[in-house]
Amino acid sequence: LTERLQNAVKKLRGKGKISESDLRDTMREIRLALLEADVNFDVVKDFVKVVRERAIGANVLEGLNPAQQIVKIVNEELTRMMGEEDAPLLKSPKIPTIIMMVGLQGAGKTTTVGKLANKLKTDANARPLMIAADVYRPAAIDQLQQVGNQIDVPVFQMGTDVDPVEIVKQGLAQAETNHNDYVFIDTAGRLQIDEQLMDELARIKALANPTEILLVVDAMTGQNAVATAEGFDNQLDVTGVVLTKLDGDTRGGAALSIRAVTGKPIKFVGEGEKMTDMDIFHPDRMASRILGMGDMLSLIERTQKEYDEKQAAELNEKIRENSFDFNDFLDQMEQIQKMGPMDQLMKMIPGMANNPALANANMDPKDMEHVKAVIYSMTAKEREDPDLLNPSRRRRIAAGSGRPIQEVNRMIKQFNQMKKMMNQVSKGNMSGIENLMGN
Ligand code: GDP
Ligand code: MG
Repeated sequence: LTERLQNAVKKLRGKGKISESDLRDTMREIRLALLEADVNFDVVKDFVKVVRERAIGANVLEGLNPAQQIVKIVNEELTRMMGEEDAPLLKSPKIPTIIMMVGLQGAGKTTTVGKLANKLKTDANARPLMIAADVYRPAAIDQLQQVGNQIDVPVFQMGTDVDPVEIVKQGLAQAETNHNDYVFIDTAGRLQIDEQLMDELARIKALANPTEILLVVDAMTGQNAVATAEGFDNQLDVTGVVLTKLDGDTRGGAALSIRAVTGKPIKFVGEGEKMTDMDIFHPDRMASRILGMGDMLSLIERTQKEYDEKQAAELNEKIRENSFDFNDFLDQMEQIQKMGPMDQLMKMIPGMANNPALANANMDPKDMEHVKAVIYSMTAKEREDPDLLNPSRRRRIAAGSGRPIQEVNRMIKQFNQMKKMMNQVSKGNMSGIENLMGN
């Protein structure tokens, strides 16, 4: 999915303006990308429609950096689609808070029970009890018992010969006696949804009246995950979803439609087999993951932190007045160097590959040191007024910096080109710096 989406927008990158047919092509690519990732058809249709309308509304066609704007819109809409806000675990006004896990066999129910109990125990000093209500596989009870031993949380079990509803009933009684504040009910699953399973789960629900019914869904199962979610939700009216196995190479196609189709929030994500491999679900992060923008977002964060806004404003002013000089150039280079390895950085910024200013800046650190050496060999006056750099001064600078005269000439030429370009960009109402910040 990510690759396709990235390809879809990559085609727009570097284009100053895009045409309506470019936009149409991009939308088609995005649509195909989502469908291919097993996202529900209706969800895709709505999604593309909204993105398109917003893109047109935002005058993407008129503005600079259409690719970035579209990425931004897609990212925002993905986030919105997945619920916008984080959805915390509900808590019952009086103890115990009962949390029932449901889902297909192998989805990760037992593991997730352990992870959640462990989290509550560690974060909130909770005293959970876990009830083993999967009686169809003897190994299931052992498994929960092992998890319990591992995280030091008690397990209530009655073997495999007892009706799960009865087990839950007695388990709840024990929780009351022991004043457990959370009770987890680990239920059975099937390979597919069937009536008997649903009936059993409905009876457990009726008895326990749980605060949360968490549906555990394997993210690797794509469109099936959505059908599963719909099925369980129709029968049991779940309160939330846990998406497991996101540590695999799945990019979250399932997350995308589950929320849209069921209207139920995704609350947690499983990211491994260990008891600590779980995270609260963040819609915005998932959107970024789907878009493969994680790197880019962290870059923007980094850039913004490193880059003092006031400095940016000053620089913009200079660019606008066309008084950008070698001192500013030096500052810029140092800023960029502070941020990290150049090539890695450049790759992270959409649209940068074709940006002439950065094509020049995109040099390896050794070259940057050479450029600095050249600038350091200039007098203060020369740095402030690059027009002073006549051939004899250039020769002196070459000798002083130990760089060949051709290199000095080339660098000055590049500097002038860059300055011109920056000035043009700034007149186009979009400053080079805003551009760098990924706006
Ligand atoms: P259940 O049948 O729904 O109770 O599923 P289990 O909890 O037994 O999990 C089935 C398998 O998936 C086990 O091998 C788990 O270790 C594994 N598993 C569960 N959650 C995750 C996860 O988030 N990531 C990975 N990689 N494996 C998981
Ligand atoms: Mg299980």
